[in-house]
Amino acid sequence: AQLRYASIRDLPAQTQCGSVVSLHMNAGLMADLPSLESSGAEGVGLFRTELQFLVRNQMPKRAELSALYARVMDAAQGRRVAFRTLDIGSDKVLTYMKPNDEPNPAMGWRAIRVGLEKPGVLRMQLQALIRAANGRPLTVMFPFIAQLEEFRMARAEFDKAMERERILGHPRPKSVEIGAMLETPSLAFAPDVFFEEVDFISIGGNDLKQFFFAADRENERVRRRYDTLNVSFLTFLQTLIARCKAHNTPVSFCGEDAGRPVEAVAFAAMGLRSLSMRPASIGPVKHLLRRVNLDEVAAVIETARDEGEMSVRTAIMDYLRGKA
Ligand code: PEP
Ligand code: MG
Repeated sequence: AQLRYASIRDLPAQTQCGSVVSLHMNAGLMADLPSLESSGAEGVGLFRTELQFLVRNQMPKRAELSALYARVMDAAQGRRVAFRTLDIGSDKVLTYMKPNDEPNPAMGWRAIRVGLEKPGVLRMQLQALIRAANGRPLTVMFPFIAQLEEFRMARAEFDKAMERERILGHPRPKSVEIGAMLETPSLAFAPDVFFEEVDFISIGGNDLKQFFFAADRENERVRRRYDTLNVSFLTFLQTLIARCKAHNTPVSFCGEDAGRPVEAVAFAAMGLRSLSMRPASIGPVKHLLRRVNLDEVAAVIETARDEGEMSVRTAIMDYLRGKA
């Protein structure tokens, strides 16, 4: 299988109907960077910056972070890297921060909620990113945005950081893209202006699914009840993708499901043209995408839905038999 994937590494994930899906990798540690070359990823669709905070036993300094982000951008050699600002709280606890005793940490004081209420670390991180870019293009995304206002506040923090850096004499990034991670169903129903204001949307399927089905992603017992290819979830994604299309808002999917070949095919059939996954999944996903016709898959999904199936998995698997 390794050899088979190597032979398509530098080929696009172009389907039989001619659609091209761009495949990116998820990363977070320096050890992930060599995978940029070996996997054939077009870029880093999700750089989980909290991993660098989690492996330390004290708060990293701005200069350290800046050097680290610069190394990531160097390794990417001009490929796009979407840096997600700190997503702590929930399952990710920093030993050097005061512990928070919350009854439901996954729905508690986490991610951008911390970043906006105690902005010190977020500001340091944004400054470090702008410095690391050192005139190169910069892509930043904010985790766990649940409503328009949070995105606006986060973006305002970025703008302030840009101004501070300008005054300090650091070069502006060549271009800036500021995105929101869509991890709560509420954001899909935000006012139209949200879709206009955001530069891109990245669907964080791990959290999104947990809140869509009200099933804890850490709890095997309830998690497994709900299939990603459940008709309700796909219909939700379809609605969201249609809104993004209507506003020309780039949208991608970076949860673990993007790296599962059958799910990836279904997402592409729903209209997604950008997926981000662990590096080892890029080969298998590309291999399958190159064999399918997305119009046919979309028709299979439609039929299964019309027939009242709970999940379209069986129907897609039947279609795929003989294609892998
Ligand atoms: C997600 O929620 O899908 C996601 C990509 O972020 P994380 O898994 O780090 O919460
Ligand atoms: Mg998440």
